[in-house]
Amino acid sequence: MALLEVLKFPDPRLRHKGQMVEKITPELQELAQDMLETMKSQNGVGLAAIQVAQPVRLLTADTSSELSDPSEENSRYSTSELKKDLVAHIKQPLILFNPEVIKKEGQVIFPEGCLSFPSYFAKIKRAEIVEVKALNEEGQEVLIKTDGLLSICLQHEIDHLDGKLFIDHLSPIKSQRLKEEIKKNGYPDKSATA
Ligand code: ZN
Repeated sequence: MALLEVLKFPDPRLRHKGQMVEKITPELQELAQDMLETMKSQNGVGLAAIQVAQPVRLLTADTSSELSDPSEENSRYSTSELKKDLVAHIKQPLILFNPEVIKKEGQVIFPEGCLSFPSYFAKIKRAEIVEVKALNEEGQEVLIKTDGLLSICLQHEIDHLDGKLFIDHLSPIKSQRLKEEIKKNGYPDKSATA
């Protein structure tokens, strides 16, 4: 396994769209494992292949810390406001190929971050519950109905596979303000946050 470089905004490759995966090859399975490792090494809860410069429809996710760590000390997300009835039954981490939202319910506003925008957060409106159809790492079709942080995470990562970023959900003024802030302050030095 290997740690991969995560592209940072405004890298133009973050605007690329992922290709449908026709066949889950050993290379793609290895990529998925590397993505999981990379995601965890940066305390992320989700990662899309687009973010590691691989234009395929593949994402990894693991929000289990929202359930196992009620103190939230080790999590950068406070999820106490979110409904978690469905997410509690889902086995994580998830590796999903060709994920697609087929149903949405309700609405929730939550401060999201992104490994391509380290240390920046913005409140985004999303569906509260989603049903996602995908292939698992063995190529079997799976249907995941979830709430909680996982619902937000899956919507966020599927956006990445279409070249869409969380800032695209903000009003033009708020999005511009965040872009200017990034331009001015940049991203934190890895050694400084470790
Ligand atoms: Zn992201």
